[in-house]
Amino acid sequence: LISLRGVRKSFGHLEVLRGIDMDIRKGEVVAIIGPSGSGKSTILRTINGLTPINEGSIRVGDIEVSDPKLDKVKLRHRVGMVFQQYNLFPHRTVLQNVAMAPIQVLKERREQVEERARRLLAEMRLPDKADAYPGELSGGQQQRVAIARALCMEPEVILFDEVTAALDPEMVKEVLAAVRKVAEGGVTCILVTHEMGFAREAADHIYFTDRGVIVEHAAPQVFFTEASDPRTKEFLSKVL
Ligand code: ATP
Ligand code: MG
Repeated sequence: LISLRGVRKSFGHLEVLRGIDMDIRKGEVVAIIGPSGSGKSTILRTINGLTPINEGSIRVGDIEVSDPKLDKVKLRHRVGMVFQQYNLFPHRTVLQNVAMAPIQVLKERREQVEERARRLLAEMRLPDKADAYPGELSGGQQQRVAIARALCMEPEVILFDEVTAALDPEMVKEVLAAVRKVAEGGVTCILVTHEMGFAREAADHIYFTDRGVIVEHAAPQVFFTEASDPRTKEFLSKVL
């Protein structure tokens, strides 16, 4: 479903991505892990077209993301993203936050979208929060609203960038459960995470990045027990 070929990206003189290749199948859950500054967020941002690349190609289904004539609306429809900071609109209710993009961007009928939004809020275990404002919710609840908002666009892929990093430990669990639910629903998930336990049990595949390259990629049971590259070993010795 998604392929990156020889993707390079520089910010000024800093080469942040130095030839990234990835292949992700439909319905897969892929975790990207690696040291801070290694380019993980940049990879996600190139996949949904937020960061233009200098070289290489990125395909999502039949969409060539690096095509200058790219239809951004079509890409947004197919690829959702959830950030560490939930980025909800504070002056809109939870329901409005979840339903806004399909109504405004995809021009779908309001009643239809709101019905879907309520169903998604129930799935995210927030059935009674539709009329609340984001500021009235806990961090974990806000993040689940952000996930419902991404799902409401009915994307094929959702990119999760350290969605639990800003949360207290007891909220991490509930958000990881929500991510797992998304994955079980068949949406392809690419997640950058520092939650090694979650990566190990939920991911089909792990990519390890260091200084703008993919050092290793493998199934989790292989990656966490037989990592061979010294950079991977060093990283795992610090986080496990
Ligand atoms: P972390 O684990 O800390 O989130 P990361 O692996 O997600 O790190 P990136 O955010 O992808 O790393 O950043 C990779 C490098 O690119 C860093 O050195 C960062 O400072 C630099 N960088 C990222 N975005 C920009 C930008 N818009 N302009 C300039 N430099 C940037
Ligand atoms: Mg990052």
